Amino acid sequence: MNKPVQVKTATGDAPIFEPEAWGLTPKQAELTALARSLAAKNFAPRAAEIDREARFPTENYRDMAEAGLLGICIPEDQGGRGADLKTYMLTAAEIGRYCGATALTFNMHVSSCLWTGALLDALEIAPALRADHEEKRKLHYARIVREGKIYAQPFSEGGAAAAGFKAFGTTALKVDGGWRITGKKIFASLSGHADYYGALCTALDHPDEDPSRRNTMYLAVPADAEGVEVVGEWDPLGMRGTVSRTLLFKDVFVGEDAQLMPRGIYPEAATRWPHMFMTLTPTYMGIAQAAYDFTVKYLRGEAPGTPPVKRRMYPTKQLAVAEMRVKLEQAKALWFAAISEARPDPSKDSLMRAWAAQNTVMETANALAALAIRTCGGQSMLRSLPLERLYRDSRCGSLMLPWTAELCMDMLGKAALYERGETDEE
Ligand SMILES: Cc1cc2nc3c(=O)[nH]c(=O)nc-3n(C[C@H](O)[C@H](O)[C@H](O)COP(=O)(O)OP(=O)(O)OC[C@H]3O[C@@H](n4cnc5c(N)ncnc54)[C@H](O)[C@@H]3O)c2cc1C
Repeated sequence: MNKPVQVKTATGDAPIFEPEAWGLTPKQAELTALARSLAAKNFAPRAAEIDREARFPTENYRDMAEAGLLGICIPEDQGGRGADLKTYMLTAAEIGRYCGATALTFNMHVSSCLWTGALLDALEIAPALRADHEEKRKLHYARIVREGKIYAQPFSEGGAAAAGFKAFGTTALKVDGGWRITGKKIFASLSGHADYYGALCTALDHPDEDPSRRNTMYLAVPADAEGVEVVGEWDPLGMRGTVSRTLLFKDVFVGEDAQLMPRGIYPEAATRWPHMFMTLTPTYMGIAQAAYDFTVKYLRGEAPGTPPVKRRMYPTKQLAVAEMRVKLEQAKALWFAAISEARPDPSKDSLMRAWAAQNTVMETANALAALAIRTCGGQSMLRSLPLERLYRDSRCGSLMLPWTAELCMDMLGKAALYERGETDEE
């Protein structure tokens, strides 16, 4: 086996997961080093302005296209980097460390490749369906790899569908040659900036049919298709660069080739591949690391943009940093274990670890950012420094459906106390 490479960044930051210690593969070491280097050099200096103006990080996407990162989860024989779920997660965490909004939107884009790629490849589907799917996805992958096209992943609708409890209200009516889509998606990150919206909808054969989750469709809607509209404002507390406005589809026609997954496969895939919902965590793993890194540099008097005043000699500060390190190590260890276990049909134990990891990373990122501000003190919350942005961005992690921090606790509690099919009926 080749020895993993370890590349230091422009800012000299060490890897979040040191390749040798964590047993990274050469590909994982290479991609994480590439992401860290690019994000430290280019994304970090742009992050404050992107946040202040709540604007999409277009130039970061140009850089990622040039570096081949947009195709990170596209198979190598189709021009991509051939990363699996774990390799993607490790790479995205390095991006989240320097620009949360870029990492979070990158997740939406990459998910369109993971759901159509690694996830479906690991499920048994009828050979004819598979052959048709492989033809269709080639088109999407070629757009990303050759033209630098960006995909969004709007599924939230403000009801129970995004949490997985109801059919999507956005419908795709079967018509000659394709589908007619009607509906509304909220929190559509990359809205107005993606080239395609990978929308989850409910397929209908007749307009008066009852919607069913079993008929979920995943369709790539071109941003410039007639009937697509982006509405509303985007002026949130954190993650301001995601530009997650509301998306309206009014009788939008898309052809058969817009199908990103065979009809009806999504519910089975979502049930059998639960770790896929962890793809929102790397951003926050990166933010947790960034809050810790800032604190260490600040207390050493080495944080860029601050006077060289040392505060590290106070025992209270040492204790606070030790507490942060413990929390960071706990989150890293659990997260690494959970993403290493990602596979179809995980055991109950493994699934519970994934929920625990999701909850831990999302809550720890915010807890570490809060501790960092308390430890560094008043000057650290000035807007000229990155810490207050990390604090605001980190607040959003535990709100992301379908695995919000609360829902993870709900699922964990129930799974711990009930086996499948058990009730309290006498
Ligand atoms: C910065 C940002 C970017 C986002 N980007 C995207 C995107 O690109 N695509 C996308 O699809 N979505 C995106 N979202 C949306 C996100 O995934 C959630 O859908 C959204 O945060 C949920 O907000 P809500 O108020 O509509 O939640 P609600 O559905 O109103 O739920 C509120 C809370 O109630 C709890 N809850 C919900 N359902 C249940 C239940 N059945 N049982 C018990 N508790 C429940 C949950 O903990 C949840 O946090 C983004 C959100 C943010 C903050």
